[in-house]
Amino acid sequence: MSKKIVVTGGLGYIGTELCKIYSGESWRNQITVVDNRFVSERVNQLRNWSINFVHSDIRDLENVKQFLKEADVIHHLAGITDVARTKEESNLSKDNEMNDIAEKGTSVVLSESSENCKIIFPSSHVVFEGKEKMEENIEEDCEKFPVLSYGLGKDKNEEQIKKSGKNYVIFRLASVYGYSTDTMRLNIMPNLFSKIASQNGTIKLFAGGKQLKCLVPLIDVARCFKFMEERNDIKFQIFNVSKDKVTVQQVANICKKENPKVKIVKTEDKIPNSGYALSNKKLLSKGFKFLYGLEESIKEMISKWSRQNITKNLEHVKKGEKEFVDDRGRISNHELPESINLVGYIDSKKGTVRANHFHPIQEQKCLLAKGQFISVYKDLLNENSQKVTHVVNEGDLIVTKPNVAHAMIFTKDSIFLNLVRGEREHENYGVTHTKKYILVKEEEKDLLMKNYKFDCRLCGKTNLKRVVSLGYQPLANNLLNKKDSKCELYPLEMNYCTDCHNCQLSVVLDPTKMFSNYLYLSSTSRSFRKHFEDAAEKYIKEFRLSPKKSYVIDIGSNDGVALKPFKDLGFKKILGVEPAKNVAKLANKKKIKTVNCFLDKKNLKKIKKNADIILASNVFAHSDKLKEMAECMLKLLKSNGTIIMEVQYLLNTLQDLTFDNIYHEHYNYWSLTSLVNFFKQFKAKIIRVERINTHGGSLRVYVKKDRSFKVEQSVEDLLEEEEEFGMKKCETYEKFGEKIYAIRKNVKKNIKNLKNNGKKIIGYGSPAKATTALNFFGISKEIEYIVEDNKLKHGKFLPGVKIPITSKTNIKQKPDYALVLAWNFMDEIKRKNNDLAHKFISIKDLEV
Ligand SMILES: [Zn+2]
Repeated sequence: MSKKIVVTGGLGYIGTELCKIYSGESWRNQITVVDNRFVSERVNQLRNWSINFVHSDIRDLENVKQFLKEADVIHHLAGITDVARTKEESNLSKDNEMNDIAEKGTSVVLSESSENCKIIFPSSHVVFEGKEKMEENIEEDCEKFPVLSYGLGKDKNEEQIKKSGKNYVIFRLASVYGYSTDTMRLNIMPNLFSKIASQNGTIKLFAGGKQLKCLVPLIDVARCFKFMEERNDIKFQIFNVSKDKVTVQQVANICKKENPKVKIVKTEDKIPNSGYALSNKKLLSKGFKFLYGLEESIKEMISKWSRQNITKNLEHVKKGEKEFVDDRGRISNHELPESINLVGYIDSKKGTVRANHFHPIQEQKCLLAKGQFISVYKDLLNENSQKVTHVVNEGDLIVTKPNVAHAMIFTKDSIFLNLVRGEREHENYGVTHTKKYILVKEEEKDLLMKNYKFDCRLCGKTNLKRVVSLGYQPLANNLLNKKDSKCELYPLEMNYCTDCHNCQLSVVLDPTKMFSNYLYLSSTSRSFRKHFEDAAEKYIKEFRLSPKKSYVIDIGSNDGVALKPFKDLGFKKILGVEPAKNVAKLANKKKIKTVNCFLDKKNLKKIKKNADIILASNVFAHSDKLKEMAECMLKLLKSNGTIIMEVQYLLNTLQDLTFDNIYHEHYNYWSLTSLVNFFKQFKAKIIRVERINTHGGSLRVYVKKDRSFKVEQSVEDLLEEEEEFGMKKCETYEKFGEKIYAIRKNVKKNIKNLKNNGKKIIGYGSPAKATTALNFFGISKEIEYIVEDNKLKHGKFLPGVKIPITSKTNIKQKPDYALVLAWNFMDEIKRKNNDLAHKFISIKDLEV
């Protein structure tokens, strides 16, 4: 049966919550709100809930008469709640106004409502405030003792209602607390303390906070009104509505627990009274249940009023939270910071591009329901900003800030929801909501579609998080023959796999493009030669290798630098495997037998099996088909043989901020943690690890395919160290990214200062890291040329920044600064070239 329900004071603290509950019932019952306030947003909301709104003072008989007459139930909430709490605070004119609304308003409700109407009225615990002997369990029939005008008014109202002969339910409410969209209600102690805690302030406890208080959560109060409206059997009754009995100090302690930064100060003045509390036995006996608690309410208020950690990223991708999974499937939730009034449903075919525009005002929020896309974006407010890409998977919410140009490249048939706050009319297109900006053209779309990596190349999962974006960069080792030779740029971005903890690039290029004509010769460096000489001696001794019998393979053998020491010691069975044609040829010329191929299944037959030792130095970074490569290595290995791998160590990169180790040829960035995870899948295991100092810090791991070998302590120790460092935590990588962006800022500033002082700067060394760093920094003309020891590089240009590379014999005028780009050889370069420049500095010196 349909009921007519009136809520007076429906825009207030309790009324707001009560209307939310009734919003679900307006299809069945006729709900009317009467309030003398007019709050645009709230009135609009009531209208949308199909709740009738009457803008009127309750005392204004003509306006409210009709609604009161027809009402089956009246929740009579109208009244002023901004009450005096102590005698000193009381104020005559306010008191008069309050009493007038209370008394006259209630008279109107009583006189105009029908015979059978049920009136539900909130009175207050303050009707007991003057009791001589304070109690903890005041029951409903206890004698009242109001003192201040608020209590006196409530008492008067109670008596008015009781005498009227109308069906009534009166609540004696404890102090009502809790978060509300209507008002903060800071005169309520838990709300006030929560506000102070949210601002890291100081809570003052007068009289040591010993006073007892009775409290009740806002939503439970609203629920209680509804409960009584539904219970026809409950009439002519008074109920205490109180849930928590706590001292002021206990409330402060909850705030402190929630935010330890809050300070609590006690004053030792005299307690005005020890406080009192109401018994809720009668209410509970009728079957009402409280559902909310003090701790969670305080927690909610503090978190909603505290400074939020809003991401500063131009665009970020978020997975759903608070997941619920059962046999039917998964529920995951995205909490939005603002309400949404428009949802677009957008269907996109694989291989198409959307957006290529920006929004000058609105933040864009898209929830990808099906499919996948690559998002490309760029900050339009910062002219030096670079394009950044990332992948968006099913269930992800992507948020793009205003004035960020963006494009979506759909790599699968996709459906996303566009969640908008604000207007989005077609007439405003190009004006307020969307402006065209071509960020991704057809050609670039094809390139990204072809080369983007969506899943971890180690474990296959798709939980890849962006660590750092070094912008669009050329291939670091493909030096240009002419300054204006065509030079393609590809995103250079590092991701972190939250499942297996490997770091890897987002974009992978055709290896033949990079490795067929490789200019990097390992033997050029004396320190490298020495490194491999020492290594060979060590392995011969430890594994008791014999020059006649032992078979040593080196994968990615370059010009034979690692095998040469074996050859010099009389080893007969040595073999190199090298994909770069020119380099392999060079090795063969030096009589180091080298097969020119990639190590994969197809080429496996070209290589003799049963190796005692397989060396692989810095090739594991360079392989996209890692699994295949590892399988091949294990197939080539004797059952008790050993694979000895050297990889650049991610821990050093993160610690020393050597981001210039990141370049396109270098797909993977290893920690021991990720190496161990990787080898697990082949049933092989790492039995020993050593930290070595090549390439600014590397790892050397010993892998056995026979699992009976004992794992040495070094492995456990380093895994523990990595765990402590935070190798398995996203924040570690996020912080690394932030530091790298700070370095760019510093280097640009420092270089600019040198140039402003008229200094002549040249570069020294053109390793891949120089290309990465200079392109990332955007430094080009500031460096006149780069001198290089490797003859093969002379006459070429560093790609992207187009700096010429030359021999040191070509230096005519002694420069002020020689900037060592191959900073890991700083000492060696300085020693050999003392007279070359007035001063040698490492690129590292400019980073601070
Ligand atoms: Zn992974």
